[in-house]
Amino acid sequence: MPRVKTKLVSWEEIVDWSMHLADIIIRDNYRPDLLVAVSRGGFVPARLLCDFLGVENLMSIQSQHWTEAAKAEERAILKFPYNIDASGLRILVVDDIVDTGETLALARNYIRDHWRPLEAKTAALQWISPVAKFKPDYYYIEVKEWIWFQYPWTRLEDTYQFIKRMLTETYKETGKTEWTYEEIVGGFREWYGIDVGDEYYKRALKVLVEKGIITYSENTKKYKIVV
Ligand code: AMP
Repeated sequence: MPRVKTKLVSWEEIVDWSMHLADIIIRDNYRPDLLVAVSRGGFVPARLLCDFLGVENLMSIQSQHWTEAAKAEERAILKFPYNIDASGLRILVVDDIVDTGETLALARNYIRDHWRPLEAKTAALQWISPVAKFKPDYYYIEVKEWIWFQYPWTRLEDTYQFIKRMLTETYKETGKTEWTYEEIVGGFREWYGIDVGDEYYKRALKVLVEKGIITYSENTKKYKIVV
């Protein structure tokens, strides 16, 4: 059993889920004039929805809740709030997933109150129904049991944060400081139940070395956690 339930999501699944989400919006007869991607998770789904809904206008707003993979910050914040005159426009605010719902709710409320559109609806590829305080107007997948979705656009970030967590917690539990590359990859697969491939592991380890979280010895060919 992995320690953190994780699902690796492919680019193909993202395209497929976005197509189905577009179909749901079309069936509901909602014709947005402007899509607003909630940065950063909503960028790819919003761009694909523009394609599938035939919408030319795409903007973004940065609402942020989670700064580390699978660990929530307490409150969502709007990073660079700005105003436009959206009177007369139907807006669709798009994110990848609604987990607590704080991020999308904050973006939608801000847009509704400050941009004054004709309408502001929300869409997400996924909605984690048991934990979300906010239900998007449109979603494709209802997730009934919490799990971390490893989307293709956060693969490197998630990988180095996941490795860091595995190394730190193993050190706390057992005192182990040195790891071979093979041990890290094996541990990662066990901890998270997914395999992101050598290119990502290697880049993630390089990031952790650059950040001073681990060191690498050419002599022993081992990575060592800095304690
Ligand atoms: P939230 O405010 O809790 O609804 O989540 C904010 C953002 O964090 C989402 O738009 C995602 O980018 C990311 N996120 C939250 N929960 C998950 C999850 N279970 N899997 C993947 N990404 C997530």
